[in-house]
Amino acid sequence: MKVTVIGRSPAWQDADGACSGYLVETDTTRVLVDCGNGVFGKLRGRIDHRELDAVVISHPHGDHILDLIPFAYALLYGPQKAGDRVRLHLPPGGAGVLRTICGAFDSPTLMDDAFDVDHYDPESGIQVGDINFTMTEVPHFIPAYAMAISSDGCGRFVYGADCGVSDSLVDLAKGADILMVEATLPVNHEGPDGVESGHLTPVQAGLMARDAGAGRLVLTHASDCLDLEGSRLAAAEVFGGAVDVAREGLSWDL
Ligand SMILES: [Zn+2]
Ligand SMILES: [Zn+2]
Repeated sequence: MKVTVIGRSPAWQDADGACSGYLVETDTTRVLVDCGNGVFGKLRGRIDHRELDAVVISHPHGDHILDLIPFAYALLYGPQKAGDRVRLHLPPGGAGVLRTICGAFDSPTLMDDAFDVDHYDPESGIQVGDINFTMTEVPHFIPAYAMAISSDGCGRFVYGADCGVSDSLVDLAKGADILMVEATLPVNHEGPDGVESGHLTPVQAGLMARDAGAGRLVLTHASDCLDLEGSRLAAAEVFGGAVDVAREGLSWDL
């Protein structure tokens, strides 16, 4: 199983960057996790978007869903391809959010027209081809779902979505080969932290990776406006293991 960063920015893109989007591939299955602004063009630079099996969304904030709009238009009006439609697995209530957004420009059924849409049950998770997703809710401003992603014979990759400090994420990430978790806040962040902030500092991310016993920590959802090497060093100091900062094109084989 291979995981590739398509975009890693928080609510606004880095210069020439993209918001949240991660491509998960095995020999037989391709899934895009989150589809924030800027992701669709970056994805097309790597694969034929029509060959994705599914898109899985962690939570319906703009930086995780907005490029579903150009993706949908490409599926409807771009060159067609015979075969299965791309599935869109949304968190509970996600379809309503997208119908409201698309309804504002008079296309409320855009997602339903372009994708095979369903809501996943976070309790039971989902299976796409040979890739399994196990979800847990994490503290954020709206319901958001972290996911453990695995495939038979491969390692375990855990994506924390957007979250504040979370015991449920630590539990999900126990023994993960890679924990990718957000580090939206700067090292010297002052103000609400923990659950109230809805986001993590690099130190909080490192402590969660340490508590989970993760093999490797990847910091993501961090802007190029931050000192990202400083973030990496701060997380590594408390984690005690290898830390990467996600950037476009970076990938890991599990
Ligand atoms: Zn976000
Ligand atoms: Zn969010």
